[in-house]
Amino acid sequence: MIVVMKPGAPRKDTRTVIGKIRELGYTPHTIYGKTRNVIGAIGDERGKFVLHSLESLPGVERVVPILKPYKLASREVKPEPTEIRLAPGVSVGGKKLLVIAGPCSVESEQQMVETANAVKAAGAHVLRGGAFKPRTSPYAFQGLEERGLKILRKAGDRAGMPVVTEVMNPMDVDLVARYSDILQVGARNVQNFSLLKRIGKSKRPILLKRGMMTTITEFLMSAEYCLSEGSRQVILCERGIRTFEDATRNTLDLSAVPVLKERTHLPIIVDPSHGTGHSQYVKPMSCASVAAGADGLMIEVHPTPEKALSDGPQSLTFEKFAELMAVLKPFVAAAGRTI
Ligand code: PEP
Ligand code: MN
Repeated sequence: MIVVMKPGAPRKDTRTVIGKIRELGYTPHTIYGKTRNVIGAIGDERGKFVLHSLESLPGVERVVPILKPYKLASREVKPEPTEIRLAPGVSVGGKKLLVIAGPCSVESEQQMVETANAVKAAGAHVLRGGAFKPRTSPYAFQGLEERGLKILRKAGDRAGMPVVTEVMNPMDVDLVARYSDILQVGARNVQNFSLLKRIGKSKRPILLKRGMMTTITEFLMSAEYCLSEGSRQVILCERGIRTFEDATRNTLDLSAVPVLKERTHLPIIVDPSHGTGHSQYVKPMSCASVAAGADGLMIEVHPTPEKALSDGPQSLTFEKFAELMAVLKPFVAAAGRTI
């Protein structure tokens, strides 16, 4: 249920409602809006009619059921978009398009420092690089683990960029959070519920990638796991789903962007690198993502893609990345955004 407070109702009325929700055995999640506060009462759906009694409290405008299975992620609870601050001057979900760039995997200090400088100079805002890699084959490069985290942090600090990297295991959340500004949950872990619960308790923003076989509703339910553990900072990432089409690595579902925009207040970014699997398709699909209303892009960039230890075929060279950033400009302006 959602308790909608009257515009301008005093804070003490909101506090009273929060206390009553707790007394009734529900968990309150308060969203402090510009004009009014809204309190989600989350708990057992069966006894929720008791919450209707809250309508008689001072400052309460109405008590309404949340119709969607995802509650805290839904626009019903929070109609205005969520803007998440990632570092001083870097945020996602507002007017400015966020660009995350970097290699698939952290391979060496030189690779990361060179990449950080190149993508920063081209206009990227966040540096990426995997230290724990989810590989289909156990014989493929698995990532440099903590050494990789250290390199990523160092390269980000030197270039003055916040960093994002994947965490695959609930036991590694604290370790990864020590080095990374943003915690990524990969496509293969989108329904790893113990990881989602653990990461939802972290103070770090979360970049949640859609699974290759996850419906939009399931994707939002995964975000709900993080939100229900207390996180307010979940960024959704469309990265392609698996279909019968094999000309591309995945089928980049750009229609997910407007659908998600309608259903959730959370920011949505697109990863056309994993979405297509081929570097030559990254530019057109980046432009299309911006046109579809995405809040940001995540692009794989490598100094020498032909030598990359993972995902070389979909990685852009520094030159191609700079070219992409230039080509994006009119699309960004047409979408009413800045970059
Ligand atoms: C990645 O971003 O490096 C990655 C492994 O992506 P995904 O989880 O979308 O496959
Ligand atoms: Mn990759």
